[in-house]
Amino acid sequence: MTEYETGKIILTGLPHNSDLLEAITDLARREKISTGTIMAIGAVQRARIGYYDQSAREYREQDIEEPMEITSCLGNISLKDGEIFVHAHVTLADREGRVMGGHLCAGTIIFAAECRIAEFKGESLKRGYDETTGLSLWQ
Ligand code: ZN
Repeated sequence: MTEYETGKIILTGLPHNSDLLEAITDLARREKISTGTIMAIGAVQRARIGYYDQSAREYREQDIEEPMEITSCLGNISLKDGEIFVHAHVTLADREGRVMGGHLCAGTIIFAAECRIAEFKGESLKRGYDETTGLSLWQ
């Protein structure tokens, strides 16, 4: 467990037609935020979400080929292999209000999105391979 001081808080729109995960990652890298949290709401034109198959130890990804509301996108920023890395999960709602969710993958294209990033100051949080889960977890 590590304690942090809060740094800057950024509120910004993300560009139409950009990739949600890449747009958040680009923003964190531009602002040099290596440890923090992210949240976003808005809408996507299409999405790609993942589910970690715990016994196979790999992600199963699926595409959602329709416009969806981002009812919630939550995640964090830490260092992975020395690079600023965003891990986020997303819950999306269709026109009937039915929700689907999972690990946010590249391939989720923004219609409109409003994002909040909070920076945490202190020693950067780092990821590394975890034998027990097969995931890259905080060390
Ligand atoms: Zn995940």
